[in-house]
Amino acid sequence: MIVAEQLDSLALQALELAARGATEPNPMVGAIIVSPSGEILGRGWHHAAGKPHAEVEALQDAVAAGRDVRGATMVVTLEPCNHFGRTPPCTEAILAAGIAHVHVALRDPNPIAAGGMERLEAAGVRTSIAGEEVRAAAARQNEAFLRWVSRLDARPPAAEIRPRDESSAASARDHSVESRTLPRR
Ligand SMILES: [Zn+2]
Repeated sequence: MIVAEQLDSLALQALELAARGATEPNPMVGAIIVSPSGEILGRGWHHAAGKPHAEVEALQDAVAAGRDVRGATMVVTLEPCNHFGRTPPCTEAILAAGIAHVHVALRDPNPIAAGGMERLEAAGVRTSIAGEEVRAAAARQNEAFLRWVSRLDARPPAAEIRPRDESSAASARDHSVESRTLPRR
């Protein structure tokens, strides 16, 4: 059984893998797949923009070595993406491979790609976040990317925020109507 400290130590190793990539304007990302008994099954990193993401590289590394990743844990330095960019979403590749647990060093601050952990959780994959030290190291590694995303965040797309607010307002209204029309006993 792998404990959080071991996952964080693997996350630090994954950060070293991530540093091999020349990924601008994409973030640097590294991933390591580990079996429940602690055996390393696959390693990967994002080589360059437009190339497979670290998660997919790690899955392919395991497959190439003939290792079964079902039920394994993936340690990844950035939350798996959940959108179709130049490559399909990593969340779907992780689900298809049967990974049971994903340990993330840094949540994806990019509003376009975010939601990976929620998607995985909804599909029954356990997710966890690294400890503070690892999170800080991951943030340092992708400082330039985080700065770029924070500029995007300065003007959040209204379309992504308003519907939710409106629907919750609407549902609040519905409840109040319902409670008023309920027969009094
Ligand atoms: Zn991805």
